[in-house]
Amino acid sequence: MKIHMARIEIKVLGGGREVGRAAIAVGNGSGMYVLMDYGVNFNERDEPQLPLHIKPSEVVALAITHAHLDHIGAAPFLYTTSQLPALMTSITKELGKLMIHDFMKLSGYYLPFEQVDVDLMLDNVSEVTYGKIYEYGDYGVEFINAGHIPGSGMIRVDLGDAKVLYTGDVNTVPTRLVDGARLDGVEADVMVIEGTYGNSTHPPREEIEKEFIESVKEVIEGGGNVLVPAFSLGRSQEIMSLLAEKLPEANVFYDGMIRTVTEIMVSHPEFINRYNLLTKAVDNFKSVRNSGDRRRIVKGEGNIIISSAGMLKGGPAQYYIKKLGDKRKNAVFLVSYQAPNTPGRRLFEEGKFADNAPLLKARLQWFDFSSHAGVDGLTNLVRTVKNLKKVIIVHSDPEVGIHFKERLDVLVGEENVLFPTNGERLLFEF
Ligand SMILES: [Zn+2]
Ligand SMILES: [Zn+2]
Repeated sequence: MKIHMARIEIKVLGGGREVGRAAIAVGNGSGMYVLMDYGVNFNERDEPQLPLHIKPSEVVALAITHAHLDHIGAAPFLYTTSQLPALMTSITKELGKLMIHDFMKLSGYYLPFEQVDVDLMLDNVSEVTYGKIYEYGDYGVEFINAGHIPGSGMIRVDLGDAKVLYTGDVNTVPTRLVDGARLDGVEADVMVIEGTYGNSTHPPREEIEKEFIESVKEVIEGGGNVLVPAFSLGRSQEIMSLLAEKLPEANVFYDGMIRTVTEIMVSHPEFINRYNLLTKAVDNFKSVRNSGDRRRIVKGEGNIIISSAGMLKGGPAQYYIKKLGDKRKNAVFLVSYQAPNTPGRRLFEEGKFADNAPLLKARLQWFDFSSHAGVDGLTNLVRTVKNLKKVIIVHSDPEVGIHFKERLDVLVGEENVLFPTNGERLLFEF
């Protein structure tokens, strides 16, 4: 008697033992794949790094989890030689267009694609709705809310005999901006999970929020101004919504690419958890239009400025820090992860963000707002999935991922948890 076996093939093209540059191909062994994400990373010289190559002729569809560049940044390269269907939510399409545009302004010289390729990708987008199944070749593709940023999705690929679930970037804690990710009742044989914080837990969200609001109040009541450098996509709107709820009468300004991202979010209410708070923020707070506005704001008192960039790499945040950083009554509140070798990390470690910058006199504090699940949230997701046989860790630094693996080994068995490097091809038969 011949026993039918389900075959699952997974190629790690990016995000193997590294955070970012996500790119995972999944197939049933036929040589055809669904490609999930095609993002970029940056090296120490700030040059973009693309994932490993895949022949577009072997890809039935490209599915993009969300609009952060480490998931979408390299995708236009596939359109230099093909016209693949690109699956993403409607807001990911708009946000992704903006992010790639900004990326090309800064790094265009290094990139193997041009604006025409970006346009071709956008022309080939099929907008998806959470919970619906889209058929491509032998495969069915479904998006499930990932709770990371508005429009972010986990992706489940039905290969016919087996199912693979890829989390992308995921957050299980609900925020004002997006509801938390849930996997109740979801079945998958293989789960590809991000492990950015596979070795740490975040303090409870309410505590961080309370501490942040109290600290902001102290500074503005003392006549100082607060600068909050924040990522344009996600964190800024979350901070704006938090302030709209807790300090609706405060003088809050937002500056940089945050303005356009906020406009896009306002035009997509279906992806925003507490939409009324976001619109309240837009109504109550002021967007900064020009350098005249900026000069007035830094001369004022009791102002709160949310500005890109989150790690102080460019954006108006550097202007503000130069103007506000020399007074003790002012404050710089970091609310985003500060990557090594960024001005933000330097500021935190050395008290100045560049060689020629003066030492910061303003109060400096970091708040652990995160849009990624901590190890407990991630482990719970793994525990929730039904019929799970194998877990593959991606989007994780080597030291972190090893610890995350140990944690999951206990849950699903050591031989069933893998932490592959880029270029590895995994084959399972059940
Ligand atoms: Zn990511
Ligand atoms: Zn992300």
